[in-house]
Amino acid sequence: MKFNRILLKLSGEALMGERQYGIDPVRLAEYAKDIKAITDAGIQVAIVIGGGNIFRGVSGASNGMDRVQGDHMGMLATVINGLALQSALEDADIPTRLQTAIKINEVAEPFIRRKAMRHLEKGRVVIFGGGTGNPYFTTDSAAVLRAIEIEADVILKGTRVDGIYTADPEKDSSAVKYENISFDDVLKKGLKVMDTTAFTLSQENKLPIIVFDMNTKGNLLKVVSGHNIGTQVTI
Ligand code: UDP
Repeated sequence: MKFNRILLKLSGEALMGERQYGIDPVRLAEYAKDIKAITDAGIQVAIVIGGGNIFRGVSGASNGMDRVQGDHMGMLATVINGLALQSALEDADIPTRLQTAIKINEVAEPFIRRKAMRHLEKGRVVIFGGGTGNPYFTTDSAAVLRAIEIEADVILKGTRVDGIYTADPEKDSSAVKYENISFDDVLKKGLKVMDTTAFTLSQENKLPIIVFDMNTKGNLLKVVSGHNIGTQVTI
């Protein structure tokens, strides 16, 4: 295996599957199977889950809602997704803990770095919910922050696109995929990998990012085994 400890970032929208809103249990079960394949291979797995399938603070704000209030709702949405993912992983016989950045003690553990690392060492998948716990941030920033804190080898950003392209491949058919690209080139070319706060935090801490298509069965195992699918962003 190429990596020992990974942080998998899944967007909330990824959990919708073919739906327009909410959580698709079939998609969750497929993800659980893929995650099981890598835990069975001995990989330590932490997951940061987004909330965009339920609520985003910015959309609330564009409809006149206070931004901070909306962001609190968004963070709670990530906890709902975290609970759903925890259920799906447990159905697949994967021991799992959910730790949240906002305390909800009856529902999940609070985020405690040392505890999280201990869970990982014991082979438990740790899901981080609640983003960073602060408004005006995204779950991409939470993913980078947690990955650095737990000393993950890499961030795997599972998306529905199979990598980083010269242009948006869903809009421009002439777009070409990069196999590897540097942080500097992503910034110079104005390519969209993560929001700038998350991206520069990753760059400053020399944490590589791999963007890959999570919706193709078996891809997650291929990525952690070192297959060159997706795009790797390195220093
Ligand atoms: N959020 C936040 N602080 C964080 C992480 C998330 O306030 O540290 C809120 C924010 O409103 C965001 C929402 O939670 O829009 C859902 O997260 P995100 O948009 O990153 O989810 P994704 O796009 O990955 O589904």
